[in-house]
Amino acid sequence: MSDALLSIKNLSAGYGDFVAVESVDLAVKKGQIVSLIGINGAGKTTLMHTVAGLHKPASGKVLFGGEDITGLPADKIVAKGLSLVPQGGRCFTRMSVQDNLLMGSFPRSARKNAKQTLEHIYELFPDLGEMKQRPAGNLSGGQRQMVAIGRALMGDPECLIFDEISLGLSPAVINDIYKKIKRINEEENTSIILIEQDIHRALKASDAFYVMLKGRVALSGQSDEIDSETLKKAYFGI
Ligand code: ATP
Repeated sequence: MSDALLSIKNLSAGYGDFVAVESVDLAVKKGQIVSLIGINGAGKTTLMHTVAGLHKPASGKVLFGGEDITGLPADKIVAKGLSLVPQGGRCFTRMSVQDNLLMGSFPRSARKNAKQTLEHIYELFPDLGEMKQRPAGNLSGGQRQMVAIGRALMGDPECLIFDEISLGLSPAVINDIYKKIKRINEEENTSIILIEQDIHRALKASDAFYVMLKGRVALSGQSDEIDSETLKKAYFGI
């Protein structure tokens, strides 16, 4: 029997006739950090949106905690413990930081601990605690990314997918956010999937990696065992 928390089996997805993700197999164990790397257009976001219920699969299966969640709507998947932090720290800009966070506690299982979880998020991201009554639209890009992470944490996830959180942020902010991700992983034993274009950062932060190219998995393995030449070849398809 597989010891994976998340198992993606032979998954394909696309847009009309265009196949963006083809026959992908991927597994994430409980407490593991997995990076999903690849150039622009490789299919990373489409794959993870399909897993998270934001895009319909064409074929294949997604199992989470042994349960078939293929094609379920996103809110049902969040309620089962799998959440995606979107690119660009998308927030409801007119709503306060705190109301943005509370939006994430809609799953029944998360609601009873919402107050405690909120305190934990303010401890993890002190900036958010100080700005909790401000409209999220007044925040910097990095702070908005923290709100998006906090909102996902409010659902009490067992597995978190981060979609290119580095985009548009300064190196100092990216380092800080990566430290917080490590903390979330260590403290809660939350499984993490990092969609990244930065090979070096992805490998440094993860236990295992998958490289996608043209919709398929070109290479996978343990992050500390791969040599950079082999990885580069798979990444660029050369
Ligand atoms: P990026 O790093 O740029 O986000 P990615 O690896 O996440 O790239 P996807 O965004 O999943 O790749 O895109 C995979 C392929 O699907 C690309 O060829 C892209 O042009 C195409 N694609 C993505 N979204 C759509 C869409 N809404 N309609 C049609 N084609 C799309």
